[in-house]
Amino acid sequence: MEENNIVVTQQPGGICTAAGGTRKTVKLSRPWQTRIKINPETCPFEKPEEQEIVKTYDFGGVWMRLKNLYTPFPYHELIVPETCWDEERLRSLGGIVELVTALDIAVKVIEERSENKIIMGVHVGPLAGQNQGHLHYHLLSPDLAKDESPLLLGGRASEDEVHGYTQSNEHLTILESSGVKVVAGGHRVGQCFLVPKEPFAGITASGSLGESLSRVIDLYAERFRSTEGFAPDYMIGLMFREKKFRYGFYLPILNHWGTTEYFALFGEEPVILPWSHEVTVGHLQRNQ
Ligand SMILES: [Zn+2]
Repeated sequence: MEENNIVVTQQPGGICTAAGGTRKTVKLSRPWQTRIKINPETCPFEKPEEQEIVKTYDFGGVWMRLKNLYTPFPYHELIVPETCWDEERLRSLGGIVELVTALDIAVKVIEERSENKIIMGVHVGPLAGQNQGHLHYHLLSPDLAKDESPLLLGGRASEDEVHGYTQSNEHLTILESSGVKVVAGGHRVGQCFLVPKEPFAGITASGSLGESLSRVIDLYAERFRSTEGFAPDYMIGLMFREKKFRYGFYLPILNHWGTTEYFALFGEEPVILPWSHEVTVGHLQRNQ
């Protein structure tokens, strides 16, 4: 739908985004972004209590699964490396090898658990919700409102909407790896979806997912490095259903939400993107 050069797009889940008008280019100035505070002295994950530790893994580097003691979710663990990392290593999630290690641990746990739906999430940088400087992946079962709630799509229906979006927006493809496709979309500027190439089969392999994520993180760190010198803060969300990866997103924090965006959640208005997903893709792909 196009009106006065404003393009309105329905996103998976039903809320629309709008972009265009007089805003047409990416903005790389983010004076509000800060460094990540990392302090092993005060870090709660540096020396966890014995009863918090679910399991310890040694892959050359040590990783742990910790119980999350303060959570609304029926199942909620954290996957953490043994020590705090420096900011550069943290911002890349340690590169592909460390990223695949964390995914491997998650996949093993998901295979053992009985929950239908499990979410894996990570927040990098304070603007993306990281409140402890020590890298920690969340692994949780979010089934608070059951799938039959009339207010929520949930499960297969949500998955179908994401796959429908990525299939009808091939032109927004950012990259593809062996099993995963990355397509720009979602409610936040710069956001992209990760979907298995065989949409309804799902995937179990953490290798292709880790490769895609690592490439996306590196690409955005380079292309969306701010004029102040920061790679974007970002979060990653991965949805597993019936023990397989179904879809996920990478969400960089490139702007802030204002009043119109919160009215959008009530269904009043579209979410305004400061530039379109098309412009993001063009910016990521220039001179590649
Ligand atoms: Zn720490």
